[in-house]
Amino acid sequence: MTPVLERFLQYVKIDTQSDPDSGTTPSAAKELDLARLLVRQLQEMGVKDVELTEHGSVYAHLPANTDKDVPTIGFIAHMDTAPDFTGTHVQPRLISGYDGKDITLRPGMVMRTADFPQLTGLKGEDLVVTDGTTLLGADDKAGVAAIMQAVQELLNHPEIRHGRIAIGFTPDEEIGEGTKYFDLEKFGAAFAYTLDGGDISHYADETFNAASAIVDFQGFSIHPGSAKDKMINAASMAVEFHSLLPQWMRPEHTEGYEGFIHLIGMSGNVEHAQLQYILRDHDAGKLEEQKKLILAAASTVGEVYGTDRVKVRIEDSYQNMQAVLKEKPEIVQLAVDALQEIGCTPQKEIVRGGTDGCMLTYKGLPCPNLGTGGGNAHGPYEYLVVSQLEKAVELVKVISRRAAE
Ligand SMILES: [Zn+2]
Repeated sequence: MTPVLERFLQYVKIDTQSDPDSGTTPSAAKELDLARLLVRQLQEMGVKDVELTEHGSVYAHLPANTDKDVPTIGFIAHMDTAPDFTGTHVQPRLISGYDGKDITLRPGMVMRTADFPQLTGLKGEDLVVTDGTTLLGADDKAGVAAIMQAVQELLNHPEIRHGRIAIGFTPDEEIGEGTKYFDLEKFGAAFAYTLDGGDISHYADETFNAASAIVDFQGFSIHPGSAKDKMINAASMAVEFHSLLPQWMRPEHTEGYEGFIHLIGMSGNVEHAQLQYILRDHDAGKLEEQKKLILAAASTVGEVYGTDRVKVRIEDSYQNMQAVLKEKPEIVQLAVDALQEIGCTPQKEIVRGGTDGCMLTYKGLPCPNLGTGGGNAHGPYEYLVVSQLEKAVELVKVISRRAAE
């Protein structure tokens, strides 16, 4: 068993599920169990300036071992696992030399190649899977393990010349708060990479632009027996509003570069109703058009029932990192060159979502996302491809070295 796999198996057994309802950072105290272990391990490696902040982030730096003027490069992974599925008592199982067939996780629970056709391409690989009762937590403990192992190996091999390297482990990525207290100054990198992707060959420098819209409808409630020409039914207004939005822009009808308007919540009665939407598009201009569609539907419903009875609140959430990264192509190119060096065929992934890197990129830390070898995240069918995790360690080392050449 390779050291990075040992690390990975150690980390996934620590329950770090984040909690969207707690209102604290970190959202769950148990996230600190892993944070403290990482601090201890980094200190044991001889890293000098390891710090665990009050909000549960871990920062550390490797000093440069070259005289060349090289920018500080950062590597970031998140320590928490998704609230979607339990991460308590993870019992990882190693499958050596996977036969490419259906995998029985436990009696009655089978990970079928028919459902997950990518599995057939992994024939011959060593995989780590769950026992079917928990998620695995490769998202993102594979990223954590890869960075930790790379630090250890860079320290063991001072002949690998590199500039200053910043390490960051964050809590609460899975509840959208991974970068809430991220301290760019403390981190001190010119640019960084999140290791929070799937297939090791994939890199992501393009994400959605995102906004949310909440639409409130104010009705006029009156006994239905005497309602004629008086009642205004807020719930009906909401239904009419939603029917004015193009059906083909729903997520279930879009893919690739197609954006969507997604109804994520609704509540209502005669007196009051509310619709909650998220708006997404890779193109910032098209996101603005989506906002106009929402406003146009609101004014149409408002014309019928009274403009003061429909209220729209639109808020921007995050932006496509591409707009920043295209100005600095060398950041993505460094990763692409490193992927090639370790024997991967780099494939650009168009993320239909956001990453911690989006937030960081717009806070001033350009930050594409790299793969770690995990798959089927957030549920019991999650798995890890061991050889890809090992390549993720190489990737961190090679990026560090190439930047100093
Ligand atoms: Zn993740």
